[in-house]
Amino acid sequence: MEAQLPINSEGKPIQCKAAVCRDSGEPLVIEDVVVAPPMSGEARIRIICSSLCHSDLTFWKAKGPLGSFPRILGHEAVGVVESVGEDVSEVKKGDMVIPVFMAECLECVDCKSKKSNLCSNVPFRMSGFMPRHESSRFTDLSGQTIHHFLFVSSFSQYTVVDVVHLTKISDPSSLPPNRACLLSCGVSTGVGAAWKTAEVEAGSTVAIFGLGSIGLAVAEGARLCGAAKIIGVDLNPQKFEIGKKFGLTDFVNPGECGDKPVSQVIKEMTDGGADYCFECVGMASLVHEAYASCRKGWGKTIVVGVDQLGSNLTFSSGEVLTSGKCIMGSLFGGLKPKSHIPILLKRYIDKELQLDEFVTHEMELEDINRAFDLLQAGQCLRCVIWMDKKL
Ligand code: NAD
Ligand code: ZN
Repeated sequence: MEAQLPINSEGKPIQCKAAVCRDSGEPLVIEDVVVAPPMSGEARIRIICSSLCHSDLTFWKAKGPLGSFPRILGHEAVGVVESVGEDVSEVKKGDMVIPVFMAECLECVDCKSKKSNLCSNVPFRMSGFMPRHESSRFTDLSGQTIHHFLFVSSFSQYTVVDVVHLTKISDPSSLPPNRACLLSCGVSTGVGAAWKTAEVEAGSTVAIFGLGSIGLAVAEGARLCGAAKIIGVDLNPQKFEIGKKFGLTDFVNPGECGDKPVSQVIKEMTDGGADYCFECVGMASLVHEAYASCRKGWGKTIVVGVDQLGSNLTFSSGEVLTSGKCIMGSLFGGLKPKSHIPILLKRYIDKELQLDEFVTHEMELEDINRAFDLLQAGQCLRCVIWMDKKL
């Protein structure tokens, strides 16, 4: 990996290509940007592959407080450490690393607890800057600051990431980069939501609303946990065939349910309601539908999809009281990146966890807008972007 890194670049700015989002919803512009050296606690990474997740689309379109433009999007990636700032010993030049939007400081009460992946020292939040120093490492050639995204910004050939957001891959030869990037967000999130957040048990029933990569990865996680019935709900009927590869046993197309609510259909299919329901689209109305589809007494609804800012859920307190159901949010599938990505990697090497099937398209950085079109049109699962075709 070291051979692919520039010589004598340490401590100096690097000029490279990036896909810059200049304004909300506008096509990304491939331009030269300047990436400053890492500050203390940070590493500069040469991004090898970055795949496109629906959250990139959401924040590409975002207006108002969540739309900090110009911005470099991208948060599902793998790369090689080019240089490190002061006080960094966890990674060194040449290490293969997976950046993740969630931090694991390894020290706070939450990182030490098995019950949460919400680090308190470096909490999840929306920011256009680095987590520790509140400044950007990107400028354009006129000197204008470019904002970061989710502490990763991987649609750039080089980026700077805080070490609390990096997971080192100890044996890079075990995992090709066009598969490794999937563990950085999508597949880990879905598999983790079933495995860690819901703790799906063998023999249980599962309903998944939205069969993009996240929902299909939930199916994959539920399959690995031994679920007996895995019901997918999607408006796109092609998703049933695709979903069978990931353990889907049944399919509901909301457009074909007539006057019956989807929750009624699922209750009938599961003799009273699914044990675990997952919302993987990002719509409050589907969270309600998922909650209604869960079994009374022990049903768990897991919110994974990212809805628009300001969207609210409304529940009758009487129903919450008497139904005994539970609703939980799940960021990054409840996984701690440094602790759990190596476990998923091992399951991939052992041929238990599927990653290959999620990659439907691969392309080069200059074609990145096509990846956005494909994901918006529901024509791809994961589209992997190779950041430098010379590699
Ligand atoms: P995607 O665009 O690939 O898939 C979305 C799927 O939902 C598509 O198959 C689409 O046909 C289906 N769909 C849309 N409207 C529907 C409806 N009304 N009923 C049923 N199905 C419907 O997206 P993805 O990359 O899989 O991401 C899914 C969601 O997960 C997004 O909201 C994304 O932001 C979120 N996400 C959350 C986390 C997290 O940590 N919680 C991490 C990554 C992504
Ligand atoms: Zn994502």
